[in-house]
Amino acid sequence: MLRSFRNINRRDFLKFCAGTATILGLSEAAVPRIARAVGDAAKKPPVIWLEGQDCAGCTISFINTSNPGTAEIVLDTISLRYHETLMAASGYVAEKALHDTIAEGGYVLIVEGSIPKADERFVQIADVPFVKTLNKAAANAAVVIAIGACATYGGIPRGTPSNGQGVGWAMENGLVPKKPLINLSTCPVHPEHLVGTIVYYLLFAKAPPMDSVARPLMFFDKLIHDNCERRGRFDNGEFLEDWNSFEERNSCLFLKGCKGPWTYADCPTRRWNDGLNWCIGCGAGCQGCSQPEFYTGMSPLYAKTKDIAGMRIETIGALLAGATAVGLAGHFIGQAATGRLGKGGPPEEGGES
Ligand code: SF4
Repeated sequence: MLRSFRNINRRDFLKFCAGTATILGLSEAAVPRIARAVGDAAKKPPVIWLEGQDCAGCTISFINTSNPGTAEIVLDTISLRYHETLMAASGYVAEKALHDTIAEGGYVLIVEGSIPKADERFVQIADVPFVKTLNKAAANAAVVIAIGACATYGGIPRGTPSNGQGVGWAMENGLVPKKPLINLSTCPVHPEHLVGTIVYYLLFAKAPPMDSVARPLMFFDKLIHDNCERRGRFDNGEFLEDWNSFEERNSCLFLKGCKGPWTYADCPTRRWNDGLNWCIGCGAGCQGCSQPEFYTGMSPLYAKTKDIAGMRIETIGALLAGATAVGLAGHFIGQAATGRLGKGGPPEEGGES
């Protein structure tokens, strides 16, 4: 019922397994084990992929990977029974596939998109409110993987009249049965985060170690700010103040609203679009899309929303009269940022999550 994918040759398949070992932080010795886990058709786990209040951006992000055909391999490896955007079937046949899989039980449930809190009728599919379908699908799922900002913590829809919320919120409030939940929270989901999580589950039959908001530590344990290529500029007090300035083009984007000092994700090292670039690399500040506070708690996106550790960066910048002062102040700022910023230090209120 799904679109057909091109055949993957053995060389590409092993490349995929080696790449996945890197994603999971495993050595090359793990490649044969990954190949067995991924290639063993008998273990093909059934997967249901539901879309609630979303833009399908996570689906697009996932199928857009090209090296080496990650989406094809994973989608051929798992038994994807239901996906509203990818499946060729429609109407009764599609609904039957969904309900047959739910009756079978033991599947992986992937959720993209939020749950409208204001009124369940904001999202209905086949005349059924999304939250009711999610309730049924979660009841028999082995594990639930929420992908993207919307399905994890509400994302942009949380700032709209529908008041979209994440899967964890629905579980906490009794709208959806409590199940093991993994949050992959960037906007959109990083394809390697999803592939890595699925393969981890195939290998170990359990969720990976996670942080306090259910994000896998293997992807979300480091601050963007600590690995940012512009961190040296931050420490030296070199901030971009004028978007049109050629001289300042590689300066730190903190004054332009960068949320890197409060955001946990591996974007600086993993990057996006097959490793091509990432937000800060192409001159836009981090928007904090992996954090539970995104979007409402991170806006305005292009204006500074908070001072670092209680210090006004502009004031310190104004004191930077000479090289010694630059060094001293840079050290001072860096100390404050690394020493005092920790998990749970969002810029503003996070809204309901
Ligand atoms: Fe990078 Fe943003 Fe930190 Fe500046 S504030 S160093 S641009 S993460």
